[in-house]
Amino acid sequence: MAPVLKTSEELQIMREAGRIVAIAHEEMRRAIKPGLSTKALDTLALTVLRDHGAEPCFLGYAPSDHPPFPATITACINQELVHGIPSASRLLQDGDIVSVDVACFYRGYVGDAAFTHPVGEITRSARRLVAATEDALIAAIAASVIGNRISDVAKATAKRAARAGYSVAREYTGHGVGQAMHEEPQVPNWWPGRRSKVQWQDYELLAGMTYAIEPMLIAGRPDLMELDDGWTVVTKDGSLTAHCEHTVAITEDGPLILTLP
Ligand code: MG
Repeated sequence: MAPVLKTSEELQIMREAGRIVAIAHEEMRRAIKPGLSTKALDTLALTVLRDHGAEPCFLGYAPSDHPPFPATITACINQELVHGIPSASRLLQDGDIVSVDVACFYRGYVGDAAFTHPVGEITRSARRLVAATEDALIAAIAASVIGNRISDVAKATAKRAARAGYSVAREYTGHGVGQAMHEEPQVPNWWPGRRSKVQWQDYELLAGMTYAIEPMLIAGRPDLMELDDGWTVVTKDGSLTAHCEHTVAITEDGPLILTLP
């Protein structure tokens, strides 16, 4: 199914949904410190969403091969790449990096964004990884212009990651966002060669297209595994990862970031 193009009225609502997510991000960034549990972050995000009349997308989300997700945010520490389950016994420690993803429904539309944040004092190499991930997101957003294709967005991420000496997660991609949390197109962080078994639909970017771009950079090898909780994905070699995400709209005036405060 081709990507759903949104009207300017729909983009206005999506901007509101995105703004609520961004406010939750700001609150969580302010709260992050050593000793805080990931469950406390989750409670904070849920409160912000509900205070603004929004509902969490992840809570109860149950794709066929997974148990229902039990929280508002995903919280991933260090070698955890995506889908980490918040826990009252999981405390942030000085030197960790924590990646938080949150999506909400607001007036029938979705906003979806993620960030990686330092906990206390982090190493220079961790700082460099987080900066490279944010840099890759900015490059991919800049490539989100009419006349380009999804492959141009994917290659922008891949190029920045490679230039900084990092791998990207190949199994997980960004995605179209609208009335559903996952729509067409898929927005990968790399683009396969012609002989690869993986192929994505290389849509032309059109005004009104809305999608989440989410670079996931890995300091070591890109091999991943899922933990026994049925959700948390970690790097097999235990190497550090970072993840950030914005929902953007393609417009005649260039890319519009929908997930800003
Ligand atoms: Mg997300």
